[in-house]
Formats: sequence, C-alpha cells, structure tokens
Amino acid sequence: MEQTFIMIKPDGVQRGLVGEITSTFEKKGFYLKVMVAIRMKLISVDRPFVEKHYEESSAKPFFEGLLKYITSGPVVGMVWEGNNVVATNRKIIGASNPSASDPCTLRGSFAVEIGRNVIHGSDSVESAKKEIALWFPDGTVN
Ligand code: ATP
Ligand code: MG
Repeated sequence: MEQTFIMIKPDGVQRGLVGEITSTFEKKGFYLKVMVAIRMKLISVDRPFVEKHYEESSAKPFFEGLLKYITSGPVVGMVWEGNNVVATNRKIIGASNPSASDPCTLRGSFAVEIGRNVIHGSDSVESAKKEIALWFPDGTVN
C-alpha cells in the first residue's frame, strides 16, 4: 500500500492544530476505508536534519528562513498509508502559498503566509520513501 510522510510544522503544533489536521486525514480514510496513520511522533529537529529533509530547496533564497522556521519548535512527523495517499494528501494540504490555496484545504483554512504554512506532505512516492527512511530510520514501515 502506498505511503506518504506528513509533518505538522512548528506553527501547526504551537497553534494546537495537530488534532484537527490528523482528524482531517482520518476522516478522509474512514470515508474511503483506506488511509490509516501507522506512525506518529512529536520531535524537535536540528538544522542538519532539516537540511537533509529539504535538501532539494538548499539553493533557494528562502532556505535559511525555512531552517529557522522548522527548527523553531517541535514538529509532528507521521506516516500515512492508503490508495494514492501521496497525491491525495497533497490535495488536502493545498498549494504551497496559502494565499493561493483552495480555502477547503488545510493550508487554505489555517495559514496565510508561505513561510508559515502549517504542514508538509511528500510530493511523490519516491520522496515519501526517502523521507520515511530519514524520519523513521528504525524500520518504521510495517
Ligand atoms: P513542503 O515541502 O513543506 O510540503 P511544498 O512542497 O508545497 O512544501 P516546496 O517548494 O517544497 O513547497 O517548499 C518547501 C517549503 O519552503 C514550503 O512549504 C515553505 O514552508 C517554504 N517556502 C517555499 N517557498 C517559499 C518562499 N518563497 N518564501 C518563504 N518560504 C518558502
Ligand atoms: Mg515540498
């Protein structure tokens, strides 16, 4: 079954959105009877770790700000599983910039700035595999 990595970013944790975000994915899974959270942890990550996670953005002008943002407080990392979960969760999350996100999405509902956009979701099955191995190196995936 396909899997994806989801991170609730520090602003999402600080604003008490963990339950609501998790519930959104759960309710979607319940409806489709395919999506189940199989791993979840609250963790503070350091700069080298975030550099690895976002290595594809390392040349971007916002990278330093992104490192500061993601290391500014604990995050929640999760693996979700289900049919087409990578693309479906990206749709539920919404566009990177919340001002352009559909209002029915998580970012469209809960965020206004691209630099504080509440949540991350893997952008492909390949990225998901890399991210799951990075975040859950102890053989997370059952
Ligand atoms: P994520 O990888 O976090 O799920 P994404 O795939 O929608 O987001 P990316 O292009 O991978 O978007 O950018 C990674 C993250 O970097 C964004 O979610 C956002 O937090 C931050 N970011 C992207 N563009 C900007 C920008 N122009 N200014 C500030 N931060 C940005
Ligand atoms: Mg991305």
